Amino acid sequence: MKKGLFLLAIVIVSLSTHSKEGMWIPLLIKQYNEADMINLGMKISAEDLYHANKPSINDAICLFNGGCTAEVISDQGLILTNHHCGYGMIQSHSTMENDLLEHGFWAESFEKELPNKSASVTFIRRIEDISDIVLKDIELDTPEQERVERVQFRIDSIRDTLMKSQEFDIDIKPFYHGNQYFMYFTEKFEDIRLVGAPPSSIGKYGFDTDNWVWPRHNADFSLFRIYASSDNEPAPFDTANRPYRPVHHLKVDLRGVKEGDFSMVYGFPYRTDEYLPSFAVDYLVEKSNPARISMRDKSLSVINKAMRENKMINLQYASKQSRISNAWKKWKGQVWGLKRTDAVDKKLEWEENFARSLAEDPEKQELYGSLLEDYRKTYDEYKPYEMARGMLIEYYYYGPEILRFAQRFKPLLNEELSNEEWASQKDKIARGMVKYFKDYNAGVDAQLMQVMTPQYIKNQDDVMVSSTVKELYEDEIHDLFKNSLFASQAGVDKLLAMSRKKAIKKIGNDPAFLVSDDILKNYKNQVQPRYNDLNGSIDSLRRTYMHALMEVMPDAKHYYPDANFSIRVTYGKVEGYNPGDAVEYGYYTTLEGVIQKMDSTSYEYKLPKKLVELYQSRDYGDYTRKDGSMPVCYIGSNHTSGGNSGSPALNAEGNLVGLNFDRTWETTMSDINYDRGICRNIMVDVRYILFIIDKYAGADHLIEEMEIVKN
Ligand code: ASP
Repeated sequence: MKKGLFLLAIVIVSLSTHSKEGMWIPLLIKQYNEADMINLGMKISAEDLYHANKPSINDAICLFNGGCTAEVISDQGLILTNHHCGYGMIQSHSTMENDLLEHGFWAESFEKELPNKSASVTFIRRIEDISDIVLKDIELDTPEQERVERVQFRIDSIRDTLMKSQEFDIDIKPFYHGNQYFMYFTEKFEDIRLVGAPPSSIGKYGFDTDNWVWPRHNADFSLFRIYASSDNEPAPFDTANRPYRPVHHLKVDLRGVKEGDFSMVYGFPYRTDEYLPSFAVDYLVEKSNPARISMRDKSLSVINKAMRENKMINLQYASKQSRISNAWKKWKGQVWGLKRTDAVDKKLEWEENFARSLAEDPEKQELYGSLLEDYRKTYDEYKPYEMARGMLIEYYYYGPEILRFAQRFKPLLNEELSNEEWASQKDKIARGMVKYFKDYNAGVDAQLMQVMTPQYIKNQDDVMVSSTVKELYEDEIHDLFKNSLFASQAGVDKLLAMSRKKAIKKIGNDPAFLVSDDILKNYKNQVQPRYNDLNGSIDSLRRTYMHALMEVMPDAKHYYPDANFSIRVTYGKVEGYNPGDAVEYGYYTTLEGVIQKMDSTSYEYKLPKKLVELYQSRDYGDYTRKDGSMPVCYIGSNHTSGGNSGSPALNAEGNLVGLNFDRTWETTMSDINYDRGICRNIMVDVRYILFIIDKYAGADHLIEEMEIVKN
């Protein structure tokens, strides 16, 4: 029953084209997508998008801070990304006296640009398909453990050999869940400075209410600059560093978009699961998402209230709130959308077709006949462990911060440290503490523990919950915060001033530390080992299922690889949609709509006076549509995901016309069940971005840096 993996290549070649669904690998665009893209209106070639040896659009796109996308828009290293991608950094420079989130920020010169600790951007300079090397002689029936070891060994040797001889770093990623492997030559810069950001009332206008929703009216952008050494190489922050001279930068096109125009988005989509089987989708809709939503319902009820009531807390918790609420709202939309589009039934139908195709071919039936049933059984066993892991993430990583903070002190308990090592650990902790307490409020944190603990216990099997947490009732939580040294800076200062012996005793007996440690121990003993085993089995089943689908039903779908944080191109059209009975959405919004939503009694829809004045005087400069209106956002059928935040939206000529930042409510389920009819991504029109920079902020020196295309 040997089946070489070469089959996969044949399948891909035989795909029909003309797709608006899919996230494509730049290296393969010429082979698989170029003709389709030109058909749809693209006027440049695949080699303008990506070329291994010549500058191309690919060289202007970078992974921003490990989670978003950004693009270079000047020959002086100016980069554009979303406001929500720069949010944490903008917040970190904010104080009560100078709140950049509230008022915005515009550096008047290079010297005034603000450096950011641990920021980075990463470019992909070359991509290679190394499937043949990594998977050589590996067959479908190669035992799993052997396969894992052989694959890892080959990846390590390729990396070791190349890293010695190359000027770039290497990243190797599995595609089609391990059925193919691609290698990326990367270049990472770490001196990234904040250049400009609109106030949140413009960048985040509509806040949680408008998030994941169309029509949209915010300018979700911020500007940064890459700095490099005097010889233009990546370098850590240094005042002597110079603005980076990039390999390529995008032209900014003010000619705008109209319905039906070709549109593409280039960036780093984070993760999709388009080939998830019905039982896994059912679990997501019925159990996993609702449980995670319920945890965030609780935390947001506390954080939102505290933020509204107290200006200081509003600043301290802005970034945390955004992180929690963004996924919370998306999951809600995802549940709604998956139900509404009958995703489970669609996947079942798909699985029935798969079974029918197998029945027609005894050889394949023998190979894959029991695959889905094995997958389902393993998944059933996996669910309680997946839930426990999800709840740990929600409670421990997104819940009361005191638990995580207490763990920072664990290294001090290590008896093997010399006194010097111990003192240096202590200094390291003390340094990190300043930032931690700047954004911390113990009252809020105690309330978080009060509301989240019962939900955490309720959402999972009893055996998965640590016994200490089960005994955390209202009074115990109250006492924990009263007695823990980790609840205040004064407490920690006291701890750090103690002798080593005394500090060790204090940490080991601290109530927050004890709970935190017990949660982790319990997870390590009760959950992690089995979770890892089952997860490994699921990885292998998923890979085989992916392989089987492509082999058994080659013409059923365009089998693009799921997103995996690698650079991709997605393309479609600028277009509106019809989300339901009697509802029709146009493809763009204007400043009129911004003004219509304005409401000075709501923090979500307050507008800066200056923007209202610009509207009243219609002082729009060169940035208008042909009818004189000011465009704000537009939508298109580009298949995007998280991680595509900040990706450039390019026109047929490859010029920047918009900035991708979100998807519509009906599209929140697109990571699992992309539906061409209703899935739309949301972009800010680049003309609105330039209008804000120029007319609102008066930062026209930034516009002068850009290469502008006009009529
Ligand atoms: N706004 C989204 C996010 O924050 C981007 C997307 O998923 O389309 O992840």
